Amino acid sequence: PAQSPTLTLGNRFAHELADLAVPWTAEEVPEPRLLVINEPLAHELGLDAVWLRGREGLGLLTGTVVPEGATPVAQAYAGHQFGGYSPQLGDGRALLMGELPDGSGRLRDLHLKGSGRTPFARGGDGLAAVGPMLREYVVSEAMHALGIPTTRSLAVVATGRGVRRETVQPGAVLARVASSHLRVGTFQYARSTGDAELLRRLADHAIARHHPEAADAEQPYVGLFEAVVAVQASLVAQWMLVGFVHGVMNTDNMTISGETIDYGPCAFLEAFDPSTAYSSIDTGGRYAYGNQPVVAEWNLARLAEALLPLLADAEEDAVEVATQSLGAFRVEYSAAWSAGMRAKLGLPDGLDDAVTSRLVGDLVTLMQDNRVDHTSFFRSLGAAARGDAEPARGLFLDLAAFDAWAERWLTLAPDAGSMDATNPAYIPRNHLVEECLTAATVGDLGPLDGLLHALSAPYEERPGLDRYASPAPESFGTYRTFCGT
Ligand code: AMP
Ligand code: MG
Ligand code: MG
Repeated sequence: PAQSPTLTLGNRFAHELADLAVPWTAEEVPEPRLLVINEPLAHELGLDAVWLRGREGLGLLTGTVVPEGATPVAQAYAGHQFGGYSPQLGDGRALLMGELPDGSGRLRDLHLKGSGRTPFARGGDGLAAVGPMLREYVVSEAMHALGIPTTRSLAVVATGRGVRRETVQPGAVLARVASSHLRVGTFQYARSTGDAELLRRLADHAIARHHPEAADAEQPYVGLFEAVVAVQASLVAQWMLVGFVHGVMNTDNMTISGETIDYGPCAFLEAFDPSTAYSSIDTGGRYAYGNQPVVAEWNLARLAEALLPLLADAEEDAVEVATQSLGAFRVEYSAAWSAGMRAKLGLPDGLDDAVTSRLVGDLVTLMQDNRVDHTSFFRSLGAAARGDAEPARGLFLDLAAFDAWAERWLTLAPDAGSMDATNPAYIPRNHLVEECLTAATVGDLGPLDGLLHALSAPYEERPGLDRYASPAPESFGTYRTFCGT
């Protein structure tokens, strides 16, 4: 590939963890065409958006131009997929280009998806289609605007190459930015090599990059595990509070940083139902909305297993240490979810826990019984707290049950002032996402721009954007999502 002297990318992962990195090169791109670029994010990374739009910039965004000194690599990882262990997954169609500092000096990975086959590609073609890459762009940026930890999207570049799926689709490369791409599956892979020194180096790398406070713990590797438990408990609580269904919570899709990663078959709830699973391959509902906390805990148990050789201590049995540390997940998850629910309902601090948990529990039952649109309902509670209950009430079939619940809630004097900053008006509704991907695939980027505009300020209701706040029309039917495309 061509060399660019304009930009410096670090190769810390490639250097410190060479056993987990295969130096690799992106496939040539016949006809690069920029579909979308994230200028605020480019700015945060000190990248000039004008340069990125030019020939060299598009080269960087597709991996065909490599900054001097950079070492693009495919990363190795393993993972449990739907509960079954795969000893070698790895970046089959992705490359870590390198690291660069953001505005606050923190290192961020610049990573490409759809950049061609790597030694980890197995049967795959190494490519990605425009639709799914734009989907990741839209949903990850929506999550970011919602305030939920996530990888970010810098750009999507169409390649001019056709990608064979059920039909031939236009190909694309997504440029993704993350605080790292370390996954639970990265630790599983390192552990499976049997090289204890490698596992230790990986853990030290993770501590330095994500959880530096663990270095000062009495047992730094226990500290690392507990820190991952804490960030994941917080993350999954935020998913649940906003109605996000990740869809493919395999251990290779769970980060050590606590950022949401890998937007494949994800989708947002409309009618509230814990058994909701959108992914066409999740026939058992393993990754259904309501299962996500349990799955996160299960994945963390796999991380604990991978870390066991580092948790052993002269006095204590490693399994016991791990089990005890994992026990914090339920406590931390529940605390985060309950606090989030109180905020969504505008409840003041200092209320009796038993009263609020009964109120919340009854609400969850009521929402499920009435198949209430999750986002519309919580958003409408702001108006209800200001004295206009009709928009909320109108979402229920059982009006008497809602009235009885609302009366109890209003007695607790909810603070309408804070509620609109917690309950978004705009989320990437499934029908809107599909609409903009379908249009973009045939060259119309208008709907994508419109949706990104609404989602960039999800808590700020703006005139003219009503369609972005409304549930899918009946005609949209049952939603299904697909991964690996
Ligand atoms: P995912 O379901 O996207 O998390 O990917 C699971 C695994 O399949 C990872 O190792 C990916 O790199 C790999 N993979 C997915 N799609 C492709 C593809 N088109 N070509 C090569 N590898 C792929
Ligand atoms: Mg993945
Ligand atoms: Mg992937």
